[in-house]
Amino acid sequence: MLEVKDLHAKIGDKEILRGISLTINDGETHAIMGPNGSGKSTLSAVLVGNPLYEVTGGTVTFNGKNLLDMKPEDRAHEGLFLSFQYPVEIPGVSMTNFMRAAINEKRAYEGLEPLNAADFLKLMREKRKIVELDTKLTNRSVNEGFSGGEKKRNEIFQMAMLEPKLAILDETDSGLDVDAMRIVAEGVNKLRTPQSSCIVITHYDRLLDMIRPDVVHVLYKGRIVKTAGPELAKEIQQRGFDWIKAESES
Ligand code: ADP
Ligand code: MG
Ligand code: MG
Repeated sequence: MLEVKDLHAKIGDKEILRGISLTINDGETHAIMGPNGSGKSTLSAVLVGNPLYEVTGGTVTFNGKNLLDMKPEDRAHEGLFLSFQYPVEIPGVSMTNFMRAAINEKRAYEGLEPLNAADFLKLMREKRKIVELDTKLTNRSVNEGFSGGEKKRNEIFQMAMLEPKLAILDETDSGLDVDAMRIVAEGVNKLRTPQSSCIVITHYDRLLDMIRPDVVHVLYKGRIVKTAGPELAKEIQQRGFDWIKAESES
């Protein structure tokens, strides 16, 4: 699904990713943890093609294609989905219209006709049920005045609608309450399929308790310094990151 090899990236003249290698197979869920400022959000930004960051080395293959050569919108059309750490509000555009545009753009990329209104509404209903999203939210402008939990539910709904091959969820460093965590975890668990994969970036071990990732990586100073099973999240909860920092610097 995704193969990252020796990825380097910088912003301005500051090197932030310093040789990331990572392989994610179909159906796998990976967690990326690490101290603040390690480069976790930078990694997700580079994968989706945020032009702020310059890739200075390495390769990324997504479904057998060179991801770094693709425009950001084509990366999305190929099935890459990024949830935003700080979701944007889009005044004047309802969730319904936003989703219709997104779905039909993706279909056009695949050479398919736009969904007719009846089929689109059927799809909306189906997916809304899965993520328990209220119709009130789909009629409102995207994220405008949404609470933290509503934004999260909305994000998981977008993910359900777009059926990404690889979803990257970058969780905030602060302010994700237990309800919002449950929404994210239940959404990820319900949407899991043998063909789709997920990267969850978080420092909440509670979230990882609910999601049970297959693999846990620790990112530190722009490198993956440790990779293990879900027990690593528990160990970090108990011992913090200092022992991993020490190991990686010895
Ligand atoms: P994390 O998500 O692990 O907390 P980030 O990827 O946000 O880490 O940041 C990694 C490093 O890159 C930090 O030192 C941060 O200050 C720097 N950085 C990130 N974005 C920018 C930016 N837009 N301009 C300058 N420095 C940045
Ligand atoms: Mg941060
Ligand atoms: Mg971050």
